[in-house]
Amino acid sequence: AEGSAYGPVHHWGQASRHPGPLYQAVSEEGPKNCQTVPSVTAHQAVPEIQILVYEGEMERAQGQLEAEMQNLEEEKNRVIEEAFIRAESEMKAVHENLAGVRMNLLTLQPALRTLTCDYNCLKRQVQDFPFMLDKAMTEAKQEICQVIGEVSSANQELLRKYKREMNLRKKCHNELVRLKGNIRVFCRVRPVCRGEHDSAENMVSFDPDDDALLYLSNKGKLMTFELDKVFHPQATQEGVFQEVQSLVTSCIDGFNVCIFAYGQTGSGKTYTMEGVAKDPGINQRALRLLFSEVTEKAPDWDFKITVSMVEIYNETLRNLLGDNQGEKLDIKMNPDGSGQLYVPGLTEFTVQSPEDINRVFELGHMNRATACTNLNEHSSRSHALLIITVAGVNFSTGHRTQGKLNLVDLAGSERIAKSGAEGSRLREAQCINKSLSALGDVINALRSRHSHVPFRNSRLTYLLSDSLSGDSKTLMMVQVSPLVCNMSESVCSLKFAQRVRTIELGNATRRQWENSSTTSSPTHDSVEVTCTHTHTLERVRDALTNEISHVC
Ligand code: ADP
Ligand code: MG
Repeated sequence: AEGSAYGPVHHWGQASRHPGPLYQAVSEEGPKNCQTVPSVTAHQAVPEIQILVYEGEMERAQGQLEAEMQNLEEEKNRVIEEAFIRAESEMKAVHENLAGVRMNLLTLQPALRTLTCDYNCLKRQVQDFPFMLDKAMTEAKQEICQVIGEVSSANQELLRKYKREMNLRKKCHNELVRLKGNIRVFCRVRPVCRGEHDSAENMVSFDPDDDALLYLSNKGKLMTFELDKVFHPQATQEGVFQEVQSLVTSCIDGFNVCIFAYGQTGSGKTYTMEGVAKDPGINQRALRLLFSEVTEKAPDWDFKITVSMVEIYNETLRNLLGDNQGEKLDIKMNPDGSGQLYVPGLTEFTVQSPEDINRVFELGHMNRATACTNLNEHSSRSHALLIITVAGVNFSTGHRTQGKLNLVDLAGSERIAKSGAEGSRLREAQCINKSLSALGDVINALRSRHSHVPFRNSRLTYLLSDSLSGDSKTLMMVQVSPLVCNMSESVCSLKFAQRVRTIELGNATRRQWENSSTTSSPTHDSVEVTCTHTHTLERVRDALTNEISHVC
């Protein structure tokens, strides 16, 4: 519309600024016409026509211009009208919005008033808060101090009672040991193994009502042996361990304990102590139990369990957990003046996890096996000792304990020396006999409270001297083979067991035993049975048991 509106204006301008050739001719010749009038007259008709043409054009252009202006005017009015309508509708929307905002404002005002009120309230609270906090803190502190004071005095009282109870417990235990004797004797009869053909059933029999009795029928004679406990051939490793576990855990309380497996070769000593991979024996079960017990006590106690393994062969000590298997160890008196013995160079493993336990056993077993050509044969001629030390300190009382558990798989007790052995076999047999005899002598001297106990007579007793004397505890697990061919060795083992047990039945019994025994200390090969006063002993034992239950 604009283009068309200005189009004619443009032509109009052009025409006025740049007149056409006719106009030019007129203006150029103007002055000349003044001088030569006759020539002007000659051409007078032409400009008039031109003027008329121009005027006609001008009129046409003006008409166009006016039409254009008319159009423009209409266009303007239309645009204004549209803008007006748009503005009107926008205005309406704005008005509506405004009304909405007004409404909102009206509803918000009370909320604003509440908020302002809340704000002021909160502001006051915030201003007051530090004072309130201070006050509350002071009160809480006072209360806490008071409670701590009360707890602390209750704690002191408990500690005092705990210490008193501990002393009492120790006293009771010592009394119990004194009355009952600190040597227990168990017997385990192994089952007849596959491939062994023997009329075993008739040789060993048990009392269905008394698990402390064992009968041997020897050449038509029935021999009765009374021990602290007899395990049937069907007894499980678990069942056996249950009977010894209180002894094992007492070393956490600071007691020294020795558990010996005694018996002829093939009677089940290693099975009882080491067991088999699927069904471990006392050694592994004891270490695991100690480990779990000290872990349970961990919040109040800090315990350290260390393990050593030693083999005594021909009176020489070998370090089974060490690197140098050829090295012979010595037993020395601790230079700290404590009177304790120690073995310089003996490897001690600290057990921190059940995996460590497995590693220790594997290493000990491997080292023992590598040093000999036939492990079974070698192990029957040497003593294997697993020495576990449990040292603990109580966090609250500072009380310290140290106990030692010695688990000993003794060398076979069969009397080889009498069977005409020679050379190295004879020396082995002599060494075994010497150490087992020494063990019997030491036990005898201890129970008789001799001033001199011959610990030094063998490496075994010397090494174990601190675990055999004082208020330490000993368990002799006498292993018996059920085979008829092993009858005489079984009788020997049981006689040894019976003797060890009998001498431990309190002072009265001791005196009787001493009076009826030979003056010389009995040796392994000269075991005497003293069953004749069984009834007297039973009476004494019953009386003592009553007394013990009274004390406990
Ligand atoms: P020792 O160490 O006294 O020479 P072992 O422990 O080696 O005797 O036992 C000899 C054999 O009898 C082994 O084959 C062992 O597995 C088996 N044995 C011993 N006691 C038992 C038992 N209670 N249950 C099953 N087998 C046993
Ligand atoms: Mg063995």
